Amino acid sequence: MTVTAQLIPILNDNYAWLLKDSTTGATAIVDPAEAGPIIAAIDAAGGRLDMILLTHHHGDHVADTDVIRARYKCPVVGASADAHRLPKLDQAVKEGDTVTLGSAKAQVIETPGHTRGQINFFFPDGPVLLSGDTLFSLGCGRLIEGSPQEMFDSLAKLKALPADTLVCCGHEYTESNARFALHVDPSNTALQAMSKAASAARAAGKPSVPTRMGDELKANPFLTASTVAAFAERRAGKDKF
Ligand SMILES: [Zn+2]
Repeated sequence: MTVTAQLIPILNDNYAWLLKDSTTGATAIVDPAEAGPIIAAIDAAGGRLDMILLTHHHGDHVADTDVIRARYKCPVVGASADAHRLPKLDQAVKEGDTVTLGSAKAQVIETPGHTRGQINFFFPDGPVLLSGDTLFSLGCGRLIEGSPQEMFDSLAKLKALPADTLVCCGHEYTESNARFALHVDPSNTALQAMSKAASAARAAGKPSVPTRMGDELKANPFLTASTVAAFAERRAGKDKF
């Protein structure tokens, strides 16, 4: 494993992620929306920051980007499709582009659905996925700017990643997602186990994420939906649940 991911709780229920390339010590922060806890985590880890990665333009993901940029003098990477509404980008990226962190490389995956310009970063040397508000544990992002077809296609790209991929998402939503998931798929034993584990973690004051893609493939109702129609029905159901 080259890239490790450390979660930083910020705001109400958001997670920023501090990535480290263990070969070179290079580090990156993903979605720095609240400077205080992020600076504390970076400084506790040695005070080095080489890069800021942004998954999408929502304030609870990007709000303190310029504070972090000014303090550590590092470049900001985000989607070229949303450059007009993201903090100023030093590297504007699109599907298939590569982002280099020390000796590690991330693949840029465009995942429209939650927002038009949402992107995910995948480090094969982990493997680690920064899934933003596209894929959550046992859930997926609301379709604020995209169609069910777009989100279904975005999730299909993520489903093709290795089963041992660490899914590092943008929110602590697992318990609420699990309640809906059990409502639509009550006899799913993998889901029952993940729901129980998430509740135990939260009761102990711990995060329920990251999880593994292989577990999400078995238990997440938005990944087990095999057709766009089934996906759309579940997404609409969750919105009303
Ligand atoms: Zn969002």
